[in-house]
Order: sequence, then C-alpha cells, then structure tokens
Amino acid sequence: MRRCRVFTREDIDSIPELQALSRDHRETMKAVSWVFPFRVNEYVIRELIDWSAAPEDPLYRLVFPQPGMLLPGQLSEIQGLTSRGVSEEELEQAARQIQLTLNVHPAGQKALNVPWMDGRPLPGVQHKYRETLLFFPAAGQSCHSYCTYCFRWAQFTRPDRFRFESHETSSLLRYLQLHREVNSVLITGGDPLVMRTKVLRRYVEPLLDPSLDHIRSIRFGTKSLSYWPYRFVSDPDADDLLRLFEEIRSTGRHVALMAHVSHPRELETPVVRQAIRRIQGAGAVIRTQSPIVRGVNDDADSWATLWRTQVQLGLVPYYMFVARDTGAQHYFKLPLAEALDVYNGAFRQLSGLGRTARGPVMSATPGKVLVTGVSRVAGEDVFVLQFLQGRDPDWVGRPFFARFDPQAAWLDELRPAFGESEFFFESRFREIKAALAAGQVSRRSPPALSAGPTPKPPAPTYSWNRHIQKS
Ligand SMILES: *Cc1c(COP(=O)(O)O)cnc(C)c1O
Repeated sequence: MRRCRVFTREDIDSIPELQALSRDHRETMKAVSWVFPFRVNEYVIRELIDWSAAPEDPLYRLVFPQPGMLLPGQLSEIQGLTSRGVSEEELEQAARQIQLTLNVHPAGQKALNVPWMDGRPLPGVQHKYRETLLFFPAAGQSCHSYCTYCFRWAQFTRPDRFRFESHETSSLLRYLQLHREVNSVLITGGDPLVMRTKVLRRYVEPLLDPSLDHIRSIRFGTKSLSYWPYRFVSDPDADDLLRLFEEIRSTGRHVALMAHVSHPRELETPVVRQAIRRIQGAGAVIRTQSPIVRGVNDDADSWATLWRTQVQLGLVPYYMFVARDTGAQHYFKLPLAEALDVYNGAFRQLSGLGRTARGPVMSATPGKVLVTGVSRVAGEDVFVLQFLQGRDPDWVGRPFFARFDPQAAWLDELRPAFGESEFFFESRFREIKAALAAGQVSRRSPPALSAGPTPKPPAPTYSWNRHIQKS
C-alpha cells in the first residue's frame, strides 16, 4: 500500500524538487500560501508534475501557489510581515483581511442556496435546482491536494463560519422525504472521497432508504481520481468503497463519479488507468468536468486530448466551466470569448461520442449559463446564451443575447443586446430573491406530510461482484 504523504506551507523547504527553483520563488510561494491554502501530496509531485518544465508546467501551476495570485500590494504586505518576523497570528490576521475581499461564497451560495426546514437553515445542504440536491458532508471538506484556482478554497481556511457543515444525515433524510421533486443527490466537498469508506457509508446508506425511492442517482464530486487514484486501488478501504458503489447500484440507482480532471496528464499514469477500470467494474459511471484556467488548460488541443482520452477510457465528458468570480479569479480567468474559442477548437476535433462536453458554462447566481456562441444579429455582435439549469426551471432552453464584449469574463459583466434594459430572467429573479430574503417564510412550514420516525435502511442486498479484482 502507498502512503499518502502530504506537504503544506511549513514543508515548502522540504520538497526536494522545489530546491531547483530560486529561493526567491519559494519565499513568494510561502507568502501567497498564507492567503490561499496550499497542500500537495507525493503522487502529484512525483507522477504528475513535469519538473523539467516547472514553474511553467501546467500541473505545477495547478497545485503550487503562483506569485500573481495576490495583487502586488497584497503580496508586498504579506512579504513585509514575514520579513519582519511577526507572529503567525499576525500573519493569519492579515491573510484573513485579504481573504475577506475575495468573494468567498460566490453565486449566493449561503444566502440563496441553503434550504430551510423547521424554521432553520439546513447546514451542509444546497438546493438551488429543483431536481438536484448538493450535500457537503462535514467530514469531507478537504482534498488530497489543493488546486490553486479552487472555488471552494474558503472551506479550507480557518474560520469555521466559512465552512459548510453537516453532521445531520437525519435532517437530510427528512428534507428529502419532504422534497420528492429531487431525483439526484450530489455529494461533494471539498472531496467526499477523502473520507474513509466507513465514514462515507454513514452519509450514503440513509439515502438508500426505501422512503427515498424518488432519488434515482447518487453522485460524488471528486478530484481523487487525479490526485490519489490509490483511493480506488490499494488504500485499505478501496475495495469497500467499490462495494459501496455496488450497493447503491443494487438499489436500482445510478452512481456517478463527477471527476474533476483539469489536464490530460492526470489520466495517463498506470495507476489512474487501473482505478478507472475498477470503478467501472463496480458499475459507476465516471463523468468529468473542470474549469478552464489560464496557464493550466487554456488551449484547445489540451481539451481535445482530454476529451478524446476520456471517450477512449469510457469516461463521459460533462462540463467545461468558466473560472468563477472568487479567489484569484483575476489571475486564472479567461474572457468568455477566449474560453469559447478553446471549447470550439477542441469540440470540433471530437467524434460525436465526445460531444457530451458542454461549455463554457458559468455556474452563476441565477443558474448555469452556457455560452452557446457568438453571432451577428440585426447588425449587432452578440453572445448567444442559454440556461442549462435555472433557479426557475422555466428559464432553461430559451436562448438569450448579450452584447459581445471581448473582455467580459462573467455573467455580471455582460449587458443585454438590442438596447434591452435587462435580461429576460431578471425581474423573476428579483422576485425569487425577495421571497428567499423574506425570512424563508414559505419554507418554514413544509408541505403537510407525516415525517414520522425514519425507517431503518434495508440490509444491503448486494452480492460481491466478480468484477472487483484485487489489485
Ligand atoms: C451544477 C450544480 C448542480 C448540478 O447540476 P446538474 O446540471 O444536475 O449537473 C446542482 N446544484 C448546484 C448549486 C450546482 O451548481
């Protein structure tokens, strides 16, 4: 079994590969990592990064803090403090002040997405789109390594009020019993697969309760396939994890791993290939998604290779996201127009099997907005946009138009085309926000449905599957 050795800010000087870079570079990296959490494991260092290309290597940039992630003034402030040798508390305090300016919870995640039950917000849950519920188990709020561009980075920094938490699978269960419109539960984090399988089971097994037969699919959002494929191969509880996937399947539900894969190299090592075969053997489908990020995967050939390799391996390309308006977005973002060029440049190289890839997609406050293309309509250059998911399901499937702007990088930087004063969804969105702000009144009393005591989940009826082979 391989042990997962990890390095954080304190260990920057003890990563042998880093010693080839200048001392200056390492010191800057330390300064940046006060603000942006840094964690990398040995697998990523040894097997994914091409050290002959560092610091320009895309996989290096994926995990090691970059000087440009802080604005010049912020960087010099932190560096000034470190060179004066101030206390850790003082540094943390200064870092926190910078973090607070970085839009830690984009897209109304706290105010607009957290549902209410029994007069209280339900921690650890987001219910933004009718059919899909996001669940953030408290024990899954970390990752095997951290991506520099992570939009959930706030969950990894100290103040607990930034964390989504839930120890309450019982309240999740009750909420789902009351919400029969939900058919998919997406367990996410952090990375829920950092949890040991026996902990993960405590969250998953209640979802298999017969009272929840409207839940047709269970998904796990994860970067473990890329950052620690041994999770599925040789960790002590790897077999048990695959058994858990089979148990979900045996209840008639779909199991999907929503794998975050940023760069084709993540799918190249022998152990990741073995992990993929084992996951598939357990009956789970791997779907893949990633943001498009400057310096990491901002070219069409990289995405074409990524998606072609996925099709070859039986993975299903899902979303290409636009870097969100949080954290070091100023450093990693691409204008929508450029992201669209990359998407099209890659998409055109695929057979139909790879064309399940959708993007560029903004996971924005009103919904998931797809940039369909750029066109010229009635003499005006426009972005053609479309909701893939909306806070109001009626918004989906109705193309709408924004003035073309080569610099715009997020929905709120776009203006309606054709002299309109606002986009079609905005007045309805104001109503929705007002209703949510009005103290969640309508949600205080859920539909009269006897909640009763929760029946125990059935004994697992799975049988050991011959497809799971010992590694
Ligand atoms: C993307 C997302 C989902 C899942 O959407 P699908 O289109 O079903 O994959 C659910 N909730 C939130 C808040 C999301 O951003």
